[in-house]
This record gives sequence, C-alpha cells and structure tokens, in this order.
Amino acid sequence: MSETAAQWAATLRARAEIDLAALEANVRVLRERAPGAALMAVVKSDAYGHGATPCARAAVAAGATWLGTATPQEALALRAEAGLPDDVRIMCWLWTPGGPWREAIEADLDVSVSGMWALEEVVEAARRAGRPARVQLKADTGLGRNGCQPGDDWAELVREALRAEGEGLLRVTGLWSHFACADEPGHPSITAQLTRFREMTAYAEEQGVRPEVRHIANSPALLTLPEAHFDLVRAGIAVYGISPSPELGTPADFGLRPVMTLSASLALVKDVPGGHGVSYGHHYTTPGATTLGLVPLGYADGIPRHASSAGPVLVEGKWRTVAGRIAMDQFVVDLGGDRPAPGAEAVLFGPGDRGEPTAEDWAQAAGTIAYEIVTRIGSRVPRVYRNERQALGRHPAR
Ligand SMILES: *Cc1c(COP(=O)(O)O)cnc(C)c1O
Repeated sequence: MSETAAQWAATLRARAEIDLAALEANVRVLRERAPGAALMAVVKSDAYGHGATPCARAAVAAGATWLGTATPQEALALRAEAGLPDDVRIMCWLWTPGGPWREAIEADLDVSVSGMWALEEVVEAARRAGRPARVQLKADTGLGRNGCQPGDDWAELVREALRAEGEGLLRVTGLWSHFACADEPGHPSITAQLTRFREMTAYAEEQGVRPEVRHIANSPALLTLPEAHFDLVRAGIAVYGISPSPELGTPADFGLRPVMTLSASLALVKDVPGGHGVSYGHHYTTPGATTLGLVPLGYADGIPRHASSAGPVLVEGKWRTVAGRIAMDQFVVDLGGDRPAPGAEAVLFGPGDRGEPTAEDWAQAAGTIAYEIVTRIGSRVPRVYRNERQALGRHPAR
C-alpha cells in the first residue's frame, strides 16, 4: 500500500486490510507441505470474507492451479471477472436443481455431481451446449452431508456417468470426497473415511473411470495427514493464514500468517463517572471514573454479538475488552482513563505480531471458530488490499 493509500485507509470508519503477500506466502507453504499434489485454493464465500478476485489472483500467482467455490454463481463470476489464465481450473460443488449447468459447461468449470438428478441435468445441458461437461463425482465416505452413498447408489452414478462419457457428453475429471473430523487427529472416522474413499475410487476406476484428480483433503488434512493428499489438496482457511483449529496448532506452528487485519477509528473518547451504565441493557457499569472509547463496528459488520463483554481490542498498545453489548453498528471499550485522540486506531484482530488479538481470540470470545469470524465481516467494511496483483498473464510464475 502506498503512503497516500495508507492515509486514505486511516480516514475510513473501519477497514479490513488484506495482505496478499501473506496469502501468497501461505500458498507457497501449503504447496511445500503437499509436494505430490496440485493445490486448490478454496475461495468460496468471497474468499472467506477476504475478497474473491484479489485472493484468487494472488493464489494463482503463488502456484495454485485450481480454485474452488461452493456455488456455481461464485465460480462463474471468477471465470468472467477475475482475469485469470484460461488454464486455471475452477470447481464448484453446491448445486440445486435448475442450476446454471450450461453456463458452467461453457465457462469450462468442473462441476460436482453427488446424485442422479444432477447427472441428468448436466447431461441434458451438455447436449444443448454441444460440448462435454467436466464432471467430478462426489462420494460420501462418511461425512453424512453432500456426496453419493456407497453401494448401489455409487454403482448407478458411476455406470450412468460412464455411459454419458461414452456418448461424448461429459468427461469424469475427478473423484472426490470431504472429511468430517480431519481437525481432530486420531479420530476413528478419519481412517474409516480414507478406507472408504480408496474403495469407492477403486470401484469407479475398475469400471473404467479415468479421473485426472482424486481428492479428499481440506486444510487440516493437508497440514496433518500426508496419506490423504492424493492428487489434489483443497485448502481454504489455511490460505488465509488461520489454523483450522487451535488444538492443531497456531498459524505460526505451520508457517502461516493471518491475511486479514480488522481495525476501526475511534468515533468518540469521553470521560464518564463511576456507576455509568454502558450500551443496551446496561450489561456493563463503569467501576469508577474512567474513559470510554466508541468503536464504530457492530453486528451488522459481522462482529459477533455473542462476544459482548468479551471481545478483545488493541488501543494504543493495550488490550481492552468490549464493555457491554455489541450493537448493530458500534460498541464501547473502557479505556481505563487513557485518552487516545478520536480517530485513534482500534485493532480487533490481525496476525498478532503488533500485539493485537487474532481472529482466534475473537472466536473464543464468541464461542465459535475463526472461520466464522473472518467470513462474516460484512460488505459495509471496505477491504483495503496490500501487495495486490493486477490481472494475470497467461503464464504466472509457478
Ligand atoms: C470449504 C471447503 C473446503 C476448505 O476447507 P478448509 O477447512 O477451509 O480448508 C474444502 N472442501 C470443501 C468441499 C469445502 O466445502
């Protein structure tokens, strides 16, 4: 960020700074941890709140050859607007009947199919488009969410996919699945899912499927389970420099650096007497004469209301705690007699190396996971990008 950009950012009510050099370094670290596999950067839900297009470009520049989204709309937008090289593969997996199959085929997306209704729709769309779809068959190896059940359902899906492949209507580009408990090392479901995945992929391959990629690993599996890497690893939260779970380790333990720093400019600093109730419901009362700082961020911006009286904020080198309720647009911190100037920076979370709290600290304060903290930061908070790349040429450094 240039000096003028930094000055501009400081005049904003609040800002989420996104350090794309950190994101690129994270992608390189993750590639080194899974040297035998290609890397898919998962950029669903606006790149977990970090901004899909700039994050996708940075991830590709750092060597991600695949991008993943949940919805087809997210994937189509990336293909149309992100200025990515044509050979970057984009996969999306959350389809509902009547979805934009034909647009997906024409945009060269890899689409996930978990059941017969989806296979029938994609085949029909391929017929109309006059070109084959790239289809990845998803197996439910034990998550109990999306994916095809083993046994007869899988046999039927594989058989019908091969029949359509024989007619030139699709190509089965991948066989894949998703873990339930990869963030709990030693959980018995992990080996059970791996066994089932090997069985289901082996069955499909015996029947004649020739997938380009087989994949099951998310961030925790990428970081802790080399035997789960197969041909492709799908990294989401780790790309953004956050540990999948505090029990697994800190970001630094894995060589990762948090990408997002959320801060605001204090809107007011004032003296109040002791015994003063603070914010809706008066859940906080000043214990004595003190100063209060008004932080202009609230639950409309994604600050969890469950972190009322608990969330940490760094102001002028000291940790302060949310005083009372977090409201829609603002909350208050007790500054204990300190008098920072209005406009002084209040840092909610960041990498932690300037002494600020982290998204993990907010997750603990709110009884949730850090994934939810960053992903929910709302569109009213401007994203300020550092170290941003412009549209990529055809051959980024890999
Ligand atoms: C979100 C998602 C991922 C990424 O998970 P992380 O734990 O963030 O790495 C991978 N695969 C699928 C199917 C997902 O929905």
